[in-house]
Amino acid sequence: MGFFDDVINTTKNVAANAGKKTDEAVKFSKLKIKKSQIKGDIKVKFEKLGSSVYQMTKSGEKDNDAIDASIAEIDECYEKLSEIEKQIDELKSEVTCVSCGAKTKNDNNFCPKCGTKLPVPEVKEEPAEEAAAEEKPAEADVIVEEKKAD
Ligand SMILES: [Zn+2]
Repeated sequence: MGFFDDVINTTKNVAANAGKKTDEAVKFSKLKIKKSQIKGDIKVKFEKLGSSVYQMTKSGEKDNDAIDASIAEIDECYEKLSEIEKQIDELKSEVTCVSCGAKTKNDNNFCPKCGTKLPVPEVKEEPAEEAAAEEKPAEADVIVEEKKAD
């Protein structure tokens, strides 16, 4: 009996992990698509900026506000891009070294390439929730007892 239970449990875990892996793969490819779309956007915006600066310079009428607006748009794209790269890193359980840009597993404390201290990955506060959950059943018991007294 015990043996078959083990087999069933193992099979369930494998299935669950496979599902998780597929989810991650889908997320990962979506992020990659987004990343290349934004990279394309940036390229287009640079081309537009370049040609408008060219035309402005040729005609002798430089519109600095228009140039600033284009640069702000490009910066926005760069921000989106770094946000997506961060999400990709998280999905791969990797961090990017702020000093040299090397990617490494997020359980490393220091960059293996340059030795810079790496940011500590966000710790999920599950233990705190468990502690709170342990206290609650006691309260619930008291309430049940009060109702029985009625
Ligand atoms: Zn580094």
